[in-house]
Amino acid sequence: MRFSPDATAGGDHRAAGTVDYRLARRAVLAEYRRGRLSQNEVCDAHPELRRAAQQYSRPTTEPCPICEACELVLVTYVFGPSLPAFGRCVANLKELTSLARQARRHNQPFTCYVVEVCPQCHWNHLAKVFPLTPARSE
Ligand SMILES: [Zn+2]
Repeated sequence: MRFSPDATAGGDHRAAGTVDYRLARRAVLAEYRRGRLSQNEVCDAHPELRRAAQQYSRPTTEPCPICEACELVLVTYVFGPSLPAFGRCVANLKELTSLARQARRHNQPFTCYVVEVCPQCHWNHLAKVFPLTPARSE
């Protein structure tokens, strides 16, 4: 997998623990539209990511910026001390909540990476990164 905890370059760290990758995304799309990046370069979702997009993703209403043929889906990976080195792909909110509890047991926040993927042309981009911390009321 290409998504690892050190893949934070280019992100905006100012928003309270959450890193938003919209600026980086906009830059990639601008380069693509100027013809400096080919479709092969921007639609290069790893087979594992494509599989996750089919099986463990959340739908969005946002059309793919490249092919506009379908709507983007979001795939969430969680990284943390007791999780696999390549992250745990999270299918739903219930699983995310359970991982947040696990993070509390380890007394260490886990990190969530949300990746947008186009199931059609395989465009993919890191959408945001945020610390997964359990709610105090739990
Ligand atoms: Zn697409």
